[in-house]
Formats: sequence, C-alpha cells, structure tokens
Amino acid sequence: KRRPIIIANWKLNGTTAFVSDLLDGITEQWFGVHQAEVVVCPAFIHLAQAVNEHLAHSNVALGAQDCSQFEEGAYTGDVSAEMLHDIGCQYVIVGHSERRRFYSESDAQVAKKFDLVHQSMMTPILCVGETQEQREAGKTLDVIKRQVGAALDYCGVEKLARSVVAYEPLWAVGTGVTATPDQAQEVHAFIRELLGPVGQAVRIVYGGSVKANNAETLFAEPDIDGALVGGAALKADDFIEICKAAE
Ligand code: 13P
Repeated sequence: KRRPIIIANWKLNGTTAFVSDLLDGITEQWFGVHQAEVVVCPAFIHLAQAVNEHLAHSNVALGAQDCSQFEEGAYTGDVSAEMLHDIGCQYVIVGHSERRRFYSESDAQVAKKFDLVHQSMMTPILCVGETQEQREAGKTLDVIKRQVGAALDYCGVEKLARSVVAYEPLWAVGTGVTATPDQAQEVHAFIRELLGPVGQAVRIVYGGSVKANNAETLFAEPDIDGALVGGAALKADDFIEICKAAE
C-alpha cells in the first residue's frame, strides 16, 4: 500500500511574515493528519526560514520548486540540488509546466535535474502533463509517454522507483477547471504501466485546481496517491482539509 502524499507548491508567493503565518497554521493543525505525508515547497529564499522556525519541530517535509541542471560552477542565479539538500530539503519539484512554458525547459534538462536530485539523496517530484490542444488532438498519452520516457531513458527505472510523479494537465493548472477523476485516473494508470514492475510502488499525484471540495473524489481513484496543490495551498485551513481528504 502506497502512503498518500500531499505537496504544497507555493510558487512565486509570500513574504517572510506570510511564510511564518502559513507554516504556523499548517504545523498547528498537522497533528490532525494521520496518514498522509505532508510536504511544503516555498520559494528558495524562504527555505532556510522554514527549516529554522518551523519544520525542525514537525514532521512536515520540505521541498524546493526547482533546481539547477548543473552541479556547481559559473551558473549565475542557479541553486544546486546539493545546496538544497544541505539546507534541509527532502524533495525537489522538477519539470513543472510553468518551468517548461516560461523558461523553455526541455525534457533533456528536466532529466538532468531529476538525476541530480537523486545524486543529492533527495526525492524528485517529476511533473508531466499535456496542453489543452494536445488533449483535443488525442495526443495526451503520447505526451506523457515522451515526458516520463525522457527521465526513464536518462536515469533508469530504479531511480523512477524512488521518485514521485505528478500528473498536472496544463489546462487544469490555475484555471479552476479540475480534471475529472476518470480523466486523471486514466493517465495515472498509464504512467504506472509505463514504469513496469516498479510502478506499483511509485506514488503518482494529481495537480491542477485541487481544492478541499474536489480532493476526496480524486483520491478515491485507485491510482491517485495524493496531490500537488498550488492556489489552495496558500491557506493553511484549505491545505489541511486536502491533506485530511487523503486519509
Ligand atoms: P493550482 O492548484 O493553483 O491549479 O496549481 C497546480 C500546480 O501547478 C501545482 O504545482
């Protein structure tokens, strides 16, 4: 049986005060979440604060939203996987659709990041998902196969087995339109199949307008092991509600 995992992706939001309040709210209510693993991913600049002020005293895990495709050196502005591990991260999101869209990240770059996260003893959260046009053209599963396949080819199935995969259809990210449980389940089952025998152990989470009022029906599907939450993760009460729906 796979342990559910609920991941908060705070994206480009917050001040030090906002992060303190949000983490207080989450760690205060976290005792009510008995089964699911809870992960928060603040902006890079708030990671140290999250560790020092809050997470050292709770079982809420820390993740980053991205990392460099390079190990170290002359790459101005980058943050390496090793730096993230050093500061206390256990998870790193790689290949988020916003990175692919706004920074033109390729499958090859995402695969390099995925590998570096493993090398630094953390767990990557590999994001995949199709656009509206790709879905309408009947290409959803081809796109997913290409995106998962890039990490598989570069890193091998053993590393995939120790990862989290997030299915985030682009048409559902930040739009208020959630994939139906059937639509999500179809893709999740397909991803599990792509992973072969190790697929049964891999946690595959759904992301895209997950809210307190739609989480439970998504989690009822056999291959949906949790969620990657954007907007609704910016309020502690809403986020904890989603965590509890995974129980
Ligand atoms: P929303 O929950 O705001 O749709 O964002 C989803 C997402 O991109 C999480 O990574």
